[in-house]
Amino acid sequence: YAAKSTGQGVALHDDAADRAWRQRLALSDDLHLALGPDAPAEAAGQFEVHYQPQVSATGAGDVVGVEALVRWQHPRLGLLAPGAFLDVLEERRLMPALTALVARRAVADLARWRATGHDLRLSFNLSSTHLSDPGLLTLLDELVAGGADPERVVVEVTETSLMNDPDRALTTCQEITARGFCLSIDDFGTGYSSLAYLANLPADELKIDRTFTSRALADERIAAIVAGTVELAHHLGLRVVAEGVEDPATLDLLRELGCDESQGYLHSRPVPAAEFLRWLQARQGVPAAVLRDQGVED
Ligand code: C2E
Ligand code: MG
Ligand code: MG
Ligand code: MG
Repeated sequence: YAAKSTGQGVALHDDAADRAWRQRLALSDDLHLALGPDAPAEAAGQFEVHYQPQVSATGAGDVVGVEALVRWQHPRLGLLAPGAFLDVLEERRLMPALTALVARRAVADLARWRATGHDLRLSFNLSSTHLSDPGLLTLLDELVAGGADPERVVVEVTETSLMNDPDRALTTCQEITARGFCLSIDDFGTGYSSLAYLANLPADELKIDRTFTSRALADERIAAIVAGTVELAHHLGLRVVAEGVEDPATLDLLRELGCDESQGYLHSRPVPAAEFLRWLQARQGVPAAVLRDQGVED
């Protein structure tokens, strides 16, 4: 019996691995159908851009920016988060197509919000492939030619992706900022960049990763790391955004530690453009402290 059940265990494991493998292949095909060179124009509609606000840690807690985060409305599987498909997309070399889609749509939404009186900053994410992709610069030029103000557009690059090829990444970052775009170092603290490298990077913003902000309240050593990071960033002239802020007590601590802005479920989850605009309008005129104390933001 023992031998048989062990055999079964192996078979079960193989089944699961096989299912995961087939699922991945199917996703890969579906991504190609939706974003590949022969994709029909309407297939782009499967991708949604959701927005999450960035709130100033000082004063009245104004909404100062918004991060664009992609979702895939899969024909059979429903709404998928980026973690479910970005690596397959990367594998199929479809990342440039997705980035262009997200950036164009987000810049158009930004212009729409501006027309209704909300002058926000827009952030969108790059993957590591873009740091060696000349097509990125073509895309950025196209956005500017289309009327986007690059000073209001922030390009987010993770610390880890910078470290794949630091020299190449530095050159690309310089080309991004030479065009007037702002540069943000995303998920800071999870990579292994050196202080010397950081000091050379023409960045405007540093985003402290959620793994730090979420533990700062419970762990003094983590709070000390955040405080040190903020101090370093400010010395280098960078704005500091705390990612993944979920509760008012954490927000208060991060504010004390000197973070300039916060982003997280406390304020809002990432939501579709129309919902974001409603959220923005509902919030206008109501002091942030009141919203926070009433838990309205949850
Ligand atoms: P990221 O750029 O660090 O984005 C923040 C992620 O944290 C988002 O996950 C967001 O939904 C989540 N988040 C925000 N606030 C909270 C919070 O308070 N608590 C918790 N638990 N999570 C929070 P999401 O949307 O699943 O995106 C994951 C990652 O996928 C992003 O991390 C980014 O690296 C990547 N990504 C998203 N959209 C794009 C895109 O259009 N292009 C590229 N290349 N990457 C993207
Ligand atoms: Mg980001
Ligand atoms: Mg991040
Ligand atoms: Mg993150």
